[in-house]
Amino acid sequence: MANNNPVTIFWFRRDLRIEDNAGLYRALKRGNPVLPIFIFDKEILDKLEDKDDARVTFIYNAIEDIDKELKKHGSSLLVYYDKPGNAWSKLLKDYQVSAVYTNHDYEPYAKKRDDEVTKLLKKHDIEFKTFKDQVIFDQDEVLKNDGTPYTVYTPYQRKWYETLKPFYLKAYPTKKYLHNLLKTDSLKIPSLKEIGFEKSMVDFPSRRYEEVIKDYADKRDFPGIKGTSHIGLHLRFGTVSIRELASTANGYKEKTWLNELVWREFYMMILDHFPHTMDHAFRPEYDKIKWINDEQQFKAWCEGKTGFPLVDAGMRELNATGYMHNRVRMVVASFLAKDLLIDWRWGEHYFALKLLDYEMASNVGGWQWAAGSGTDAAPYFRIFNPESQLKKFDPKFEYIKKWVPEYADFTTYPKPIVDHAFARDRCLKAFKLALAK
Ligand code: FAD
Repeated sequence: MANNNPVTIFWFRRDLRIEDNAGLYRALKRGNPVLPIFIFDKEILDKLEDKDDARVTFIYNAIEDIDKELKKHGSSLLVYYDKPGNAWSKLLKDYQVSAVYTNHDYEPYAKKRDDEVTKLLKKHDIEFKTFKDQVIFDQDEVLKNDGTPYTVYTPYQRKWYETLKPFYLKAYPTKKYLHNLLKTDSLKIPSLKEIGFEKSMVDFPSRRYEEVIKDYADKRDFPGIKGTSHIGLHLRFGTVSIRELASTANGYKEKTWLNELVWREFYMMILDHFPHTMDHAFRPEYDKIKWINDEQQFKAWCEGKTGFPLVDAGMRELNATGYMHNRVRMVVASFLAKDLLIDWRWGEHYFALKLLDYEMASNVGGWQWAAGSGTDAAPYFRIFNPESQLKKFDPKFEYIKKWVPEYADFTTYPKPIVDHAFARDRCLKAFKLALAK
């Protein structure tokens, strides 16, 4: 595989598309032929419990699509299954690498990995350049006037819109420069089996989103109808460009859907500035809560057998499809942390295992919001009542009928594992006690 001509490497990570890819565009314009690579990271994959994890199949399909497209231009994707450090050592032996281009990745693990790769490349005098791609604005672009990060959403959102100029939404015309790809023989992608996985049979959501934008504000809260886009998975792995989404959404007068994309950036900015929030409360006093952590009740919650139909429907939807409606995510999270007094981190971890659109920043943000410990959090004394949430958001029981069909038959449906009024009172006491210290 040795190649003696200098190449620029482009490293695909969570930006699995060719068109409108910021780092790939810049790599292609740099001058040297570009060799695109992808690393199936053993550090991450070996920790996944389900060997038919749908996210791995999704990534696999996406890199096969990229490879097909590259082959049309006489190139190919070089794919490793290894720890990133080992993959890079091999690459440096096999190619004369003049520079490595990639897109920013903001999660704590990714930042550490990139620091290590930077050091390795520096030893060989190779520049490592990363670019903003998965957000419109990243960590330091939307700050308060005094230069500190926002910790409350509404003023962040205001500043986000003030900062927005058409330039930020412009697509990078990557396809115009594909003639600068390195011409290679067809490289072989390791099979799913070779990387330790099986093909998942889950149906992946399409990347269509336009139809929900107009009526989003009216429909988004009702889990029984298709009122939201299900685009999260594509955003997570970059099979859709955020500039395309934001620019389309910005063309509508109704901005509620665009505001959700701003929430996503808000949480990414928070995790980037406050990495401790990945497993500690944003507000430290909330780490003092004495959780009950009853394992039987946790199991009932995971399996959707709590006896609260909206909670059970949500958990069953999650287990069956890897998706859960946002309204229901809020209800099940509040139920776990507040009604059951189970540490929000247990729930966050379970979601991380199951959600196709799992995104550390939004997941931690959503969980801490529900537990009351995060930015913009629901105050701890505001506790969702799963019964009244059901009446309000699934009044015709459309969602419940789909996921908890036995609800109609009171003899087979489980009895509630906790009395909500009692649990509410217990939660208020536990939170008050922790916060009083
Ligand atoms: P739509 O409603 O169509 O919104 C479009 C996109 O906007 C979403 O795909 C997402 O990228 C973004 N978005 C929407 N709502 C939010 C929000 N509240 N916070 C941040 N971004 C948002 N979202 C994730 O992407 N990954 C997670 O792991 C995740 N975990 C969550 C955990 C909890 C406890 C809660 C309450 C929310 C969580 N969310 C998470 C936010 C939200 O529930 C999902 O983004 C949304 O339900 C995904 O469905 P959709 O793609 O149809 O979104």
